[in-house]
Formats: sequence, structure tokens, C-alpha cells
Amino acid sequence: MEHKAREGSPQQPVITAGQPHRLRAGRLIVMSNRAPIRVVREAGKQRIEPTVGGVGTTFLRLLEHQGGLWIAWSGTQKKTPGRLMMPPGSDPPRFEVVFCPLSERDISHYYYGMCNRGLWPLMHFMTANCHFNALNWRYYEAVNRNFAALAAAESADDDVVWVQDFHLALVPRLLREQRPRIPIGLFWHVPFPPEQIFRVFPWRSELLEGMLGADLIGFHTRSYVIQFLNCCERILGLRVDRARDKVATRRGPVQVGVFPLGIPADYFANLAASPRVQERTERIRRALRTPHVVLGVDRLDYTKGILERLLGFERFLEANPAYHRRVTLVLIAVPSRTKVADYAMLKRELDELVGRVIGRFSSEGWVPIRYLYTQFGAEELVAYYQAADVALLTPLRDGMNLVAKEYIAAHLNDDGALILSEFAGAAEELTQALLVNPYDIDAIAARLRQAFEMSPAERAARMRAMRIHVHRNNLEHWSDLFLRALLPERTLAAQASASA
Ligand code: UDP
Repeated sequence: MEHKAREGSPQQPVITAGQPHRLRAGRLIVMSNRAPIRVVREAGKQRIEPTVGGVGTTFLRLLEHQGGLWIAWSGTQKKTPGRLMMPPGSDPPRFEVVFCPLSERDISHYYYGMCNRGLWPLMHFMTANCHFNALNWRYYEAVNRNFAALAAAESADDDVVWVQDFHLALVPRLLREQRPRIPIGLFWHVPFPPEQIFRVFPWRSELLEGMLGADLIGFHTRSYVIQFLNCCERILGLRVDRARDKVATRRGPVQVGVFPLGIPADYFANLAASPRVQERTERIRRALRTPHVVLGVDRLDYTKGILERLLGFERFLEANPAYHRRVTLVLIAVPSRTKVADYAMLKRELDELVGRVIGRFSSEGWVPIRYLYTQFGAEELVAYYQAADVALLTPLRDGMNLVAKEYIAAHLNDDGALILSEFAGAAEELTQALLVNPYDIDAIAARLRQAFEMSPAERAARMRAMRIHVHRNNLEHWSDLFLRALLPERTLAAQASASA
């Protein structure tokens, strides 16, 4: 995620399950648009803060464990590249962070223009929100070239490069031109659209060719893999082996695979078990005062189906007067990309809709919606997860949706219910959730009623199955699977030396 935490955000997650996979030779070089840490300058002093949540945490731990390098944009405008030894002041350092500088125009054209207003909606199948222009594309290419040049300068052939996400789609090919032998992995954190949608992108071939510079390309779900393979075959005319998920390129085969992103499940379970969080949970429930609490949590993004969720809740209240005064919807909307016009418009629409539903249904002592436009730290968030007997997550399209998994991990007694959009990547794994089509407002209302009226035994059985899944397929497991697939020989060698 791109945002920083509000007050009270806790320390970095302590991931306790297993040990990360250690590479036998060479360094791990992780590349992402945003860094997992940020440098805060206050009163002439400089301190380093980790960004909260998300995938950054797992890479930080990997790099702390085995050393290596992280290449990322610092998140601010700065003219020269900077280098940080981590942890600060350590000698020798455990790992390094190298910042790729972005100018004001880079930020405007590459980041806001191409990434946020072009590729983000394209990848989420939302062509109506796509804005493409050639200048943005040129900046996107140039920034990708800078990232690749930094990686080439910093790496040796026995290193391993793991590129993250759609911001850096051209890096694999650009880096490959300079380092033909280095292993390169690419993980795609967003969905990948069907061919007919992807075709609207004017630079569709360049983007695919950029990605195909990698040896291994990972997606969250099988559907994204299939859609990507279709694009390679039909747009680039490449031969695709569907049984083995391989694409034949001039350079040789590129492996594609499904690697569903997991969460640090133990970290969320430990937070949920802590007396401090349980006390917060109690406080939240006392303040809300209704027997049922429904929770929605997302960045304020048009892909998240927040308006649809509200319309579904409104329809539920219309159809079920017996539930008036007995249910509260807690809507946590995290400010996001506030400089992009589509996001500002969504905020206005949401404010209006929340106001309408509150005005329509509230009565003495009961307000049906608590609308929190802010970002919480993990402790507060877990308290809200626990306080909610139902999570209502209705993205119109979502790469994975980590909130769904975190909600499950926080319900230690299996006493929650998850209503989840069938268009979230997580729906392909969390089959025990109450799946819903978020475009079907009546279905959302019906699912809410089903969740409230489900027997405790059925709730527990569904939650338990999903909780086991979330713990087994945690974040560590994910990075391990990916690295093993990228470097099978080194994995075998490392295992042999470990057991010797
Ligand atoms: N999150 C947070 N504070 C909040 C709301 C969300 O730290 O107030 C975190 C949440 O714990 C989760 C991430 O933001 O790890 C959201 O990830 P998700 O995959 O659900 O959506 P994304 O924003 O990446 O599209």
C-alpha cells in the first residue's frame, strides 16, 4: 500500500512461522516502485520509519535474514539516488536500500499519469477510467530504464532479481539486455485482464515483451495466468504451452505460475490475542451498541465497490425493518491517490451516499453507518476486525484482497462471517466465504441476511476452514514458493547442504 499509518501503528510484524528460503549464492535484489521504509526528516534530524502492512514486510525480513539490496523510489521528489545501510548505523549492514530518484515530471507522468490513471484501471478491467497518452508512456519507459540501469550497475550474474508489480513491467526486458544470465522473477500484484480488454492499451506489445524478459512471472490466480497466456499467444503470436504454463520466446521459455499472496497470519493472530487489542475491541463494540456490526475496509478506490456495498446495505435496511437499530455498518475508507480526479469524485459520491442512508434510516439513539475516512495502524484495525461479526468486502475487481485474509486470521474463535466479492482474487481460494456479485445489489442484501441468520455451527465450520488455509498459505510460504520456482537448482543445493 502506498499510505502511511496513523497514530498508534505498531512495530513491524514479527513473522514467526518457518525460516525464509536462503539463497545459496548471490544476493537477492528486490525492486519495487515504493520502498518498505521511508526517511523522515524532522528538526534537522533524520529517522527511518517502516511503512506499515503489505508485502514490504516480508521482503524486509528476507533481506534482513540473508542480506541483499532493495531498489525503490523513496516516495518523494529528489534529484540524486540515495543509499541507506540497514539497520541504520550497523557495520557491516544487513542489507542496503538504493533509492531511484524521480523528478517532479517523472512523478506526474510515470506515477500519476501512466501507473495510476492508465495501467491501474486497465489491469482492473475498467476501461472507462483509463487515460492513455504518449507522453506518459515515454516517461514510464524512461523511469523503467532508470530502474533497470540501477539494477544492472548494482548486480552480479549470480544475484537474483525479484521485480514487483505493474509499475516496473519493462524492467525485466531492459535488465535482461544488460545482464543476459541473471535470474529475474516478476510478481504481478494486480489482476491481469482478458485479451479483449488488454488490447485497448496502445503499448500492449511493448508491455508484454517487457514482462517476458523475466524467467518466471507470478500471478495471484489461475484466471490471471490464463488471461496473460492468451495475450502472449494472440497479441504477440508466441507459442504457449498451456499444460506447463510456459511461453516460448526467442530467448527461450518463460515460466508463468500461480502464487497467491498470503498474509503474516501469526502476526495478526497474535495481535488479536493481545489484551490491549481485545480491550479496544470491547470499547468499539460498546460504543456501537448494536448486536450486529458489519465492517468494510479499503483504500478509497473505484475498484473496491464501496458505493455498491452501501447500496446493498441500504437495500438490506429497506427489506428488513426488523434489523433496524440492531445493525451498524462500519465503513473504513483510507484516503488514496487524492490528487487524481476520479478519486476526488468518488469521495464526493461516497460522502453523499453515506449522508443519504444515514438521513433516511437513523432514529433516536441509532445511526446505521459509522464512516471513518482515515488510515488505522494494525492494532486498531484488528480490533475492528474482531468487533465485526460480518465483513462485507465487495470489490468490483481486486488482485487478491488481503483485508479478507486478515479478517479471518483475527477471528481466533471462528465467530465471524465473510461476504466476499467473487471478483476478488481471494475468492478463488476462500471458497467457504459467502461469495457475492457486487454488481447485484439485491444479492448483497440477501447475503447480509444470510450471514446474520447462519447457525453458529455453520459460521464456525466456514471460518475454521478458511483460517487453516490462511495460516498454511501465509506470506512466508508465498515468497518461499516463488523463489523455489525461480531457482530450483539453488534450492536443491541449499537443502542438501542444510541436511548434510
Ligand atoms: N490497511 C491498513 N490500515 C487501514 C486499512 C488497511 O494498514 O486503515 C492495510 C490492510 O491491513 C491490508 C492493506 O492495507 O494489509 C490493504 O490491502 P488489500 O490487498 O486489501 O488492498 P490494496 O489497498 O492493496 O488494494
